[in-house]
Formats: sequence, structure tokens, C-alpha cells
Amino acid sequence: MSDESAVRRAATEILGELPRLLGEGRAAAVAERVREALAQEPEDSTFRIEAVLREHPETRAWMRERLLPVLGERPAFRDYQELPGRSTVPAGEVFACPLCGSRWVRPTLDDRVPPCPEHRMPRVRQGG
Ligand SMILES: [Zn+2]
Repeated sequence: MSDESAVRRAATEILGELPRLLGEGRAAAVAERVREALAQEPEDSTFRIEAVLREHPETRAWMRERLLPVLGERPAFRDYQELPGRSTVPAGEVFACPLCGSRWVRPTLDDRVPPCPEHRMPRVRQGG
């Protein structure tokens, strides 16, 4: 099974779990966005699924548990890990701590840039 189809299958399964994970109110909006993501071409689809399901700690954790046995430590699994620093992201903007240079790559424009964990400084955008 390709990484894409593993992620798509997991996203299909999580639809039934969303009310339990997020509560009925939030689940409906998230489910709609997951369905939209699933309707895209596979490559675009996994990217969008990730953007939606990374937003909530509950869905991120569920995807991580679901994908670990299937994908191991491959990039499609690492997308759902808590820690930033995904060196495999091809085209994200790079942000860095002005004091120590601690880098973080923003996967999508929807992601908030986390401050440097050591200095609590807002990371600033790097050229290129
Ligand atoms: Zn720092």
C-alpha cells in the first residue's frame, strides 16, 4: 500500500471517530473538510488531510497511532508527530529563532509558527 493510500484510508476511518474525538459540534466541520480533502487527487489529498487533522491534538494523536504500524517512521507518518523540524518537507517556509537559529518549517499557511522552545522567542521568517 502506498503512503498516500494508507493516509487516505486512515482519514476515511477517522470520519466515524470524529464525534467521539472532538465532540459533535467540532466534528461536523472537520468531517466536511476531511471529505473535501478525500475528493482531491491522491497527492493533493494527503496534504489537505494532514492540514485538517494536524490542527487538533486529538485527531493528530489518532492518526499517529493509526499510521505508525503501517508507515513506520516514513515522512507521511512524521507529518503527524508533535515535534516540528520536519526536514523532509519540500517547499515550506523556514522560520528561525533570532537567538539560536532553531529552525522550523511551516507545512501549510494555516499552521501557526511556534516560538523557539528554549528562548520563547517568536521565530522569524528566513529568506529562501
Ligand atoms: Zn532559540
